[in-house]
Amino acid sequence: MKVGVLALQGDVSEHVSVLIACGVYPTTVRRRSELDGVQALVIPGGESTTIAQLARIFDLFEPIRSRIAMGMPVYGSCAGMILLADRILDAKKDQESFGGLDITVRRNAFGRQVDSFESDISFDDGSKDLVRAVFIRAPWVENIGTGVTTLAQVDSHPVAVRSQSILATSFHPELSGDHRIHRYFIEEVAKVALEQVQ
Ligand code: GLN
Repeated sequence: MKVGVLALQGDVSEHVSVLIACGVYPTTVRRRSELDGVQALVIPGGESTTIAQLARIFDLFEPIRSRIAMGMPVYGSCAGMILLADRILDAKKDQESFGGLDITVRRNAFGRQVDSFESDISFDDGSKDLVRAVFIRAPWVENIGTGVTTLAQVDSHPVAVRSQSILATSFHPELSGDHRIHRYFIEEVAKVALEQVQ
């Protein structure tokens, strides 16, 4: 499977390392031609406003938006979740998202940088083992639309959600050494979605 990591800003190399550990050799995506060459995309954590602005500057914004709308499997962590959300609360003025995921997210919902935390949480992929989750100025999901499933929660706020070929987490599995979320994305989300279109 050809998986890309959007490489405009944020913790790109951490996602690349985890994907390699999962047996997928990703392409970094900064150009339209690189986007055209991938079947699935990971949007890293970082700063959602900066990633959106750089996507405009690099002429990637509309192409990414339309690939997602056409069903390209995509996984967003933290800022990536914000960029996938149809609606953003506490957004910066004129902040844009690629959208596609029928959720409302609240930016920086858990507090500021100093309120960052790690926690072992349950993730609904059929395993009873907890998953190590790192939250850094993380959003939470305030509302989900029909067709969106909650896979993990903290304090009754969804922090991992899925809608068909789109997966998003408020936290950073790429920083914890726990590869389960990436494996879930590859095996259960992306592979399944790509098999359906074949
Ligand atoms: N608070 C950041 C934003 O709004 C996200 C933080 C992160 O990705 N760790 O984009």
